[in-house]
Amino acid sequence: MKNDCLFCAIAAGEIPSNKIYEDDQCLAFYDIAPQAPVHFLVIPKAHIASVAAIDGGNSGVVSHLFEVIAATAKKLGLESYRVVSNIGEQAGQSVLHLHFHVLSGRDMTWPPG
Ligand code: AMP
Repeated sequence: MKNDCLFCAIAAGEIPSNKIYEDDQCLAFYDIAPQAPVHFLVIPKAHIASVAAIDGGNSGVVSHLFEVIAATAKKLGLESYRVVSNIGEQAGQSVLHLHFHVLSGRDMTWPPG
């Protein structure tokens, strides 16, 4: 756990979240400022700063995160959804702990803004 990391604190249960799924490796919870009718985040419990910090030593959890994304979307009955991860300030990353946004329930535009 990294000090002063919001999502480490959420993963540790120190800050409450609206949880959808949790296991020993990860957590799925609803975004506090939803950008679509359904908007949840999937995070590893171990601190990884972003996609840019994924390497051979920590990538195992990433496949698990995608299994959880697929299973959670299925559980919520989502037939179409978008998975997004922002890396760095210019791309819009505001929390420096790896997370995948899952957005659904409205028409999406491409390219994203
Ligand atoms: P990003 O800006 O891509 O780093 O995504 C961070 C996301 O975390 C944003 O969509 C925020 O709305 C969301 N967020 C920030 N604080 C919380 C919180 N306490 N609980 C749930 N989601 C949060």
